[in-house]
Amino acid sequence: MVDVKTLKEKAKREVDAIMLRLIEMSDWIGKHPELGSEEVEASKLIAGELDKHGFKVEMGVLGMPTAFKAIKKGRGKGPKIAFLCEYDALPGVGHGCGHNMIGTSGLGAGIAVAKLMRGLPGEVWVVGTPAEEGHGPSSGAKKRMAEAGFFKGVEAVMMMHPMGNSKATVATGFLAITGVKIEYAGRTAHAAADPQNGLNALNAAVLCFMATHANRQQLRRDANPVVHGIITEGGLASNIIPDRAVLQFSVRSSDDAYIPTLVRMVENSAKGAAIATGCEVKVTVSPGLKTNVRNPPLEKLFVKAYKELGIEAIDPDFTASQPPGGSTDFTDLSHFVPGMHTMLGFTKADVTSHSRELCAATLTEEGHRGVEIGAKVLALAGVEVLTDEKLRAEIKDAFNKAKK
Ligand SMILES: [Zn+2]
Ligand SMILES: [Zn+2]
Repeated sequence: MVDVKTLKEKAKREVDAIMLRLIEMSDWIGKHPELGSEEVEASKLIAGELDKHGFKVEMGVLGMPTAFKAIKKGRGKGPKIAFLCEYDALPGVGHGCGHNMIGTSGLGAGIAVAKLMRGLPGEVWVVGTPAEEGHGPSSGAKKRMAEAGFFKGVEAVMMMHPMGNSKATVATGFLAITGVKIEYAGRTAHAAADPQNGLNALNAAVLCFMATHANRQQLRRDANPVVHGIITEGGLASNIIPDRAVLQFSVRSSDDAYIPTLVRMVENSAKGAAIATGCEVKVTVSPGLKTNVRNPPLEKLFVKAYKELGIEAIDPDFTASQPPGGSTDFTDLSHFVPGMHTMLGFTKADVTSHSRELCAATLTEEGHRGVEIGAKVLALAGVEVLTDEKLRAEIKDAFNKAKK
């Protein structure tokens, strides 16, 4: 008979035993930010540590060089669980989303549970999922892995995402998101001496922005629409009429079915601006990400695991009733396999995400404590999934029901 309580105590002690190393790694990744698809050092560091702890590591997954899969097998065949790592940074603000803490908490949970596997049937996986922030060719990695059947047969895929306050949530909703890239082609000319012979691509970009702003009033408020964008190219010198301008928009909504309407709105704004300025326009729409699927038994499990660590998680139904804010490729994965993307507030102060302040906070004692709680809550939940057949059946049942 497996004594789950003893196993969970042991898992916590195993996390304690590697905390100094986890902190060292989280800080190193935090101070050496790498953009998505380019996380060569971070992925190598985490995968190397897994190798040292007896995992069978495969570097590069589905043509994504900075993705990895690490497996530690237990005593014979049995249930499989997976902890996810992220380790990509944001342009300009480094680890302003705290993915250095995600990478090391997933790693910590994996190592801690792996130490128990000698006495347990099954497998523990630690999976490196790059480019969560959408940068480079590996963006949407979790979606691609899930669609390729990578997580087939895994009972639960779990990860912790930090945020800047002192709350823990287990049912955070996410918005569906699609990217819209707009490229204008005009004609160069001397901006003062011969403007009549130019076609101003930057003017088209600015008009497109303004048309999008104007259209916002007509959006469905109940669908939590968000339309945001930047101009990434807008000319090279003020004395040349710009012949090229590029905008990158994202449209988001809590209603998947509303995304095409938002895309059309941006597209029409782009076309209107092209007509007005005489420029050519090319619109490229990205495949996009869905909203997420909830799993109440996993939510209950994480509320309990947090409680065992002295942390009160917010009531899942309340969290899920709140308008979502962000998006993640974890959402698409949650359509293929039962998933838990818990959010852990690790700072006393309200630090906003995607900021330099959050990046700095990951390197403080609060950040280090966040890695510890993250690793422990994942490890505790992981032990329960591995050892509780009834719980596994409930998780599967809830997943199948939600999919209908
Ligand atoms: Zn982010
Ligand atoms: Zn993030």
